[in-house]
Amino acid sequence: MTAPLSVLKFGGSSVGSPERIHRVARIIEAHHKRGEKLVVVVSAMADTTDDLIALAKKVSPRATERTHKREMDMLLTTGERISMALLSMALADLGLEAVSFTGSQSGIITTNFHGEARINDIRPIRIFESLEKGKISIVAGFQGVSLEKEITTLGRGGSDTSAVALGAKLGAKEVFIYTDVDGVYSADPRKIPAAQKLDVLSARLAYLAASRGAQVLHHRCLEVALKFKIPVRVLSSFLEKDVIREGRFFDNGTRIIPHSQETQMENPFVSVVNKSSHVSLLQISGMENSKVLELITRLQDSKLTWISLRSFESGLEVICRDELVDEFCSHFRPQQRLTDLTLLSLVGGGLTAAPELTRGVLAILKRKKIEPVHVLIGDEVMEIAVPTSPDLDPLLAEIHALTR
Ligand code: ADP
Ligand code: ASP
Ligand code: MG
Repeated sequence: MTAPLSVLKFGGSSVGSPERIHRVARIIEAHHKRGEKLVVVVSAMADTTDDLIALAKKVSPRATERTHKREMDMLLTTGERISMALLSMALADLGLEAVSFTGSQSGIITTNFHGEARINDIRPIRIFESLEKGKISIVAGFQGVSLEKEITTLGRGGSDTSAVALGAKLGAKEVFIYTDVDGVYSADPRKIPAAQKLDVLSARLAYLAASRGAQVLHHRCLEVALKFKIPVRVLSSFLEKDVIREGRFFDNGTRIIPHSQETQMENPFVSVVNKSSHVSLLQISGMENSKVLELITRLQDSKLTWISLRSFESGLEVICRDELVDEFCSHFRPQQRLTDLTLLSLVGGGLTAAPELTRGVLAILKRKKIEPVHVLIGDEVMEIAVPTSPDLDPLLAEIHALTR
């Protein structure tokens, strides 16, 4: 019987210092002792990616504009190369044979859309070779190479997607996403103290939460998990030495599963409440209906991504990240353009049939004198866009309390 393969991913704070890298090496050693074949994906250390972006902006104020995206990808991919090489050395010092690969060396083939490339295929020839030889492969997350032989990045937080995509391609039994919290919570545990850890969450709801502010997972990794039915586990790498030594952590965290685990029959429920800041609302009306679809097609062709898009009779409303507004506006001229908003999202099921919940949320907004600029209620998501202000965490805490 061949040994089972696991993909492990360690985020930026997990590999944020030499001590942290040593701790991660011990976690990998514990997996190795269980007889697993291992592919390990790493992010850049701590704030490296942010620091590189700040550095680029000092050199060129236009660094984040589309014209500079190719060079930004060249720059940002260096962050993950640092951590992969350091981790590989730390493993060697523990007597474990490991070899590091960039995204390109790992055969991660992406589109050529710099800054937000998507994975088209993985040709993991070198990973197979090193696994054959009993070595652990360390892969730089968040990056790949296009068929045009250009180095690309997958978008902020994209190492999770590298890990799950590799898990799908290599037939991993499980993908372990090690991070700085011990699972996916009903709200951001750093901002909402009453947030509760979820033992299980469906990949579909995790996808919706992740695309709306639950940054603990990159939303696109959940598309892949869902499509290829790959089990994902989110857990903390901040473990005590004896817990690692005794292997008392493999079952920790939140299990993300391809199907629903809901026990509620048709009752409405909310699993996660999150917020996304720095978003904009763009609205255009007075168009011919046929032109609305043409415009949507044009936006899709442009590869721009949005959080929410709603077409209505002779118009269109888009919620997107603030930084993409200019690019969106190069495709249409919105009559309404509201920036620096925060999108509050409740993710769950049966929400169109939950009048008490809607009434409760509206009462909280009214009491706090916060005027929503957009509300959309679907079966799985209730989204409310409001002007950004400092009181939104307490507001979210109240909404969260309503859903428990
Ligand atoms: P990594 O560097 O490991 O990729 P991230 O910083 O990308 O980690 O994601 C982890 C962070 O996600 C946590 O520190 C937490 O503050 C935040 N977060 C936001 N929403 C949630 C949520 N619903 N559950 C858990 N963590 C969340
Ligand atoms: N280092 C990249 C970022 O900070 C990718 C990642 O962390 O997943 O966005
Ligand atoms: Mg992350």
